[in-house]
Amino acid sequence: MQKRLQVVIEGVIQGVGFRPFIYKVAKSLDLKGFVFNTSDVVNIEVQGEEENLNNFIKEVIENPPPAAKIAKIEYAEIHLKDDEDFQITNSVVKNPSRIYIPKDLCVCKDCINELFDPENRRYLYPFINCTNCGPRYSIIEHLPYDRENTTMSDFQMCNDCLEEYNNPQTRRYHAEPNACEKCGPEVLLFDSSENFIASSKDAIELCKKLLEEGNIVAIKGIGGFHLAANAYNDESVFRLRQSKKRGNEPFAIMMPDIESIKEIAYVSSEEKEELLSVERPIVLLEKSDNYNLSEFVAPKLKKIGIMLPYTPLHYLIFQNLKINALIMTSGNVHDEPIVSSNDEAFEKLKNIANYFLTNNRRIRRKIDDSVVFFALDERLIQRRSRGFVPEPIEVPFKLKEGIAFGGELKNTISLSKNNLIYISQHIGDLKNKDSFEYMKWVYSDLLELLSIKPEFVACDLHPDYLSTIFSESLNLPLIKIQHHKAHIASVAGSLNLKDKSLIGVSFDGVGFGEDGNSWGGEFFLCNGKDYKRVAHLEYFELPGGDIATKEVWRIAYSLLRKYFGCNIPINFPVEPDKVQIIDFMLKNKMNTPTTSSIGRLFDGVSSLLDLIQTTTFEGEGAMILESIASPLITTSYEPIILKENGEFIIKLEPLITDIISDIKYNISKEEISAKFHNYICSIILKVSNILRDAYSVEDVILSGGVFQNVYILNRIKSILTEEGFNVHLPKDVPINDGGISFGQLYLASLLIS
Ligand code: ZN
Ligand code: ZN
Ligand code: FE
Repeated sequence: MQKRLQVVIEGVIQGVGFRPFIYKVAKSLDLKGFVFNTSDVVNIEVQGEEENLNNFIKEVIENPPPAAKIAKIEYAEIHLKDDEDFQITNSVVKNPSRIYIPKDLCVCKDCINELFDPENRRYLYPFINCTNCGPRYSIIEHLPYDRENTTMSDFQMCNDCLEEYNNPQTRRYHAEPNACEKCGPEVLLFDSSENFIASSKDAIELCKKLLEEGNIVAIKGIGGFHLAANAYNDESVFRLRQSKKRGNEPFAIMMPDIESIKEIAYVSSEEKEELLSVERPIVLLEKSDNYNLSEFVAPKLKKIGIMLPYTPLHYLIFQNLKINALIMTSGNVHDEPIVSSNDEAFEKLKNIANYFLTNNRRIRRKIDDSVVFFALDERLIQRRSRGFVPEPIEVPFKLKEGIAFGGELKNTISLSKNNLIYISQHIGDLKNKDSFEYMKWVYSDLLELLSIKPEFVACDLHPDYLSTIFSESLNLPLIKIQHHKAHIASVAGSLNLKDKSLIGVSFDGVGFGEDGNSWGGEFFLCNGKDYKRVAHLEYFELPGGDIATKEVWRIAYSLLRKYFGCNIPINFPVEPDKVQIIDFMLKNKMNTPTTSSIGRLFDGVSSLLDLIQTTTFEGEGAMILESIASPLITTSYEPIILKENGEFIIKLEPLITDIISDIKYNISKEEISAKFHNYICSIILKVSNILRDAYSVEDVILSGGVFQNVYILNRIKSILTEEGFNVHLPKDVPINDGGISFGQLYLASLLIS
């Protein structure tokens, strides 16, 4: 008997070849009807034998296209109609209830095969794509996702391309960025004075030679320009570091395949899967004994960020290239946003890059590469951008439409609609003027794209953050969320832990605290929207405030002065006159804000061990300290925790005294570092036990920048689990300040509901 079903599917279903897939399945089961997109869902009507209809639903659920994600499928029987065939009909724009914006996808296997097939008409064409792959979010101007609403509307398809685009039997049926050499974008090579050198295949061949010869080439990609250089060439890498004003911050590299990566780094099966995923993020891997890249790539660090090629152009560049590792760092100067237009690239990168491999496809949104790392097989996100954004995170209740502006460093913003929270792409350090301007652009862009009319705003508690000042200017109900509460809320929200009692451990750099001090070593007791600070690191002084984050010896000196008075027990490795000024500041309490930050404690210890005295990027001291920590040492400094005024305080004097005594006894830095790392784990365990006894809480959230330290994360996860705690880490939300906006929006939503 014939039946007819109306099927509505929600999820990641646009720009991933979903309609052609539905067409194929319907045809194969001899069903009649149609499929079309609205801005938010795929609508299907199918008619045929009941058994075939059942098989249709089964096939759709079980075997969707690789990049598709079905969030919800609903179907109901409706009256029979008399269609002649199965058809894909035009997209319909209507007022959407759920908006899914397709994300950028890495080039697929089928397209790679065609790319290197001399018989194929797209042989060596760097913009080859299909319904399963290619740029999406980075080229969308408006929704729905149709070609005329993308920057590919600049190109008129040739007859061959148009034929594929309109033919449901091909892999390119409604592949919106569909293009070929005849009709699509082309690559162009210029020198740094904007003189045209070559185009198309010649440009790519020349670019390879230039890279081999040690040049720095700015290469236009999906969400912006990369600066590329030979990762084995000391001179090139050093020059790139200097001209990019990069300090010692590690560079990410790209290698052509997993085999090459395994030559220089350890790769677990989970890491391999992540490297090969459609998101193609940078994965932080441990350098192997055979690591032989230039020492300037990731100086003094144990880890290296590596990604695989993800555009056809990357594959073409690595084909027969004599080097198997290229630096591929974001094309920007210092903390500015990544450059994405050709004009911007020539203007901003002309003193860095020797050559420019550009193209004439416009990038609508700046999107950096994403960065992930693993701790005991669990994937954690450091930077959530290309490949992940703008996929929303679902929460189990309806949210008011709102917006949260995040913190200051590693800024992202978040927006809520229905039961979804959208985290923006990585924006950067808002102290930088261009990044702040970009934040405002992203704000208006996402408001329009998601058609959100915010009813409230959330921001940080810090009165001086530009994001706070901007939030205040919007004249909407404003909810300020303390930085470390936002870190904890980002985990509670991403894992749906609203109804559990939780211990929230936020170990971090600094964030403005509710008592006016800089927090960063905090324990909260959390019930629903109620977050109470119950324990923290003892306060210590940061002479000079923010400068102490750079000149970390100031922190070490402050700690020594605090516990040893004038009798500094070690040879302090900084000029006496500099120290004298700090001494004066401390004595007279001049510009010496107090902090409970674990991140700053790491800085201080890295200085005490004389690993570094002046850092070039935030967290450098901690990263070097982690890199030398001996994994064989299981002993720890003894944590002393006292109850003072109803709060548990982690006392620092015993720690500092023990470290100084170890330094005097010439205990190796590797051992001292390990004992300090183990001490951090001991604090967490000890305080968690106290809180479990007092409040019967067994769930522990770990969040904040310090937990990018895998030595600590791995150990504390196993220790807490062994002791019967449930450990929760952020899922799909960055563990560092990139997750703050999500946490703010989630907690603010609970507070106003
Ligand atoms: Zn493809
Ligand atoms: Zn064409
Ligand atoms: Fe933070």
